[in-house]
Amino acid sequence: MDWTESLPSNIQQAIKEVDQQIKPQIAAMNQRLDNNQAKVLAAFRAQQVAESHLHGSTGYGSFDEGRDTLDKVYAQVFGCQAALVRPQFVSGTHTIAVGLYGCLKPGQKLLYITGKPYDTLQEVIGLTGNQIGSLKEYGVQFQYQPLTDQGAVDFQNLTQTLKTFQPDVIAIQRSRGYEVRPSYTIAQIKTMINFVKQISPQAIIFVDNCYGEFSEEQEPTEVGADLIAGSLFKNAGAGIATTGGYLAGRSDLIERAAIRLTAPGIGSHEGATGNYLRGMIEGFFLAPQATANAIKGAIFAAALLEKLGFEVTPKWNEPRTDLIQTIILKSPEKMVQFARAIQKYSPIDSFVTPEASPMDGYEDPIVMAAGTFVEGSTIELSADGPVRPPYAIYLQGGLTYAHVRIAVAHACADILQ
Ligand SMILES: *Cc1c(COP(=O)(O)O)cnc(C)c1O
Repeated sequence: MDWTESLPSNIQQAIKEVDQQIKPQIAAMNQRLDNNQAKVLAAFRAQQVAESHLHGSTGYGSFDEGRDTLDKVYAQVFGCQAALVRPQFVSGTHTIAVGLYGCLKPGQKLLYITGKPYDTLQEVIGLTGNQIGSLKEYGVQFQYQPLTDQGAVDFQNLTQTLKTFQPDVIAIQRSRGYEVRPSYTIAQIKTMINFVKQISPQAIIFVDNCYGEFSEEQEPTEVGADLIAGSLFKNAGAGIATTGGYLAGRSDLIERAAIRLTAPGIGSHEGATGNYLRGMIEGFFLAPQATANAIKGAIFAAALLEKLGFEVTPKWNEPRTDLIQTIILKSPEKMVQFARAIQKYSPIDSFVTPEASPMDGYEDPIVMAAGTFVEGSTIELSADGPVRPPYAIYLQGGLTYAHVRIAVAHACADILQ
């Protein structure tokens, strides 16, 4: 049986054409995958990851060789001095917050050069929410440099901002979040870092690397970032790690962050890994593959939806540096229909019907499809978005390419019926 048989004939035809059209992009992604897999394998070999490392520790976790080895594997793969990979990080937001609290002292200054930070980070900084415990309450000053109308970093005005504000930490957000702006490639991040280092050589460069890992063949730490952060229920955990986050970068900054996560005198030397370590290690081994599958799915979705008349970003043939595919549906009904189809074609909770509903921290109702093995995991196929003009749905993840193809094809059928 051909899986496309239950689809309307125009969509069957569109899939055939799209598969031809995107062949070069899929081949290029497969090549990236091979290179990233080789990089990861080389680090596992060099750090001598052993069967005995998979079992995790209890109590203080004082002699957790598996944990310490995984830190070294991350550091090697990301081309930096050190890393802190821990199940005690509860989410990407928490990991980023620990990184920032580690870098910043009261009275110091944080500048985001990529526009407003991701929604949940605004609360950490103290821009929204009640500010209790925020960086602001701790006396950290904050500014962000608005983007240009084209969604690019405003280099023209940045020079002045750097000179007058004199930031101690300069932050870059790689992925677009819920903004209608492009995600920034490693080449673009390299340009940003070189630019700001000329004017503020003493500043620490922090990159929010969420959704970026293994999308390209380098990470921000390999082009000058001092510290990066990400979530293990996004790319780096491959849907296998069930919780956690990572920081990677300069060893002094990693130790400072470790002290914030645990306590002075403890730092990175304690922290039991319980039953989490096997998934964290295996997840990192599988991360290049999971990321490639998700991105191939995003390329397929971009091409198919464009062929069917929808505006998408990035387009199927544009460079990719993260998992996110924005699809502009221009109708609240279509947003809900799209999310429902993704949910229906998920392995878990396929029988659940997503509804648009209010969510903490967001101004507009959010519609969300996530039939995932790990709750809230977005390396697994998921779709969400705030129900407001231009009614854009954000599609991301997919542990297998076939899963994304099937779910997206059916979503297209549903929004066009
Ligand atoms: C996902 C994400 C985060 C962190 O989000 P969590 O939901 O807390 O894991 C931060 N920044 C960006 C750009 C993200 O995509």
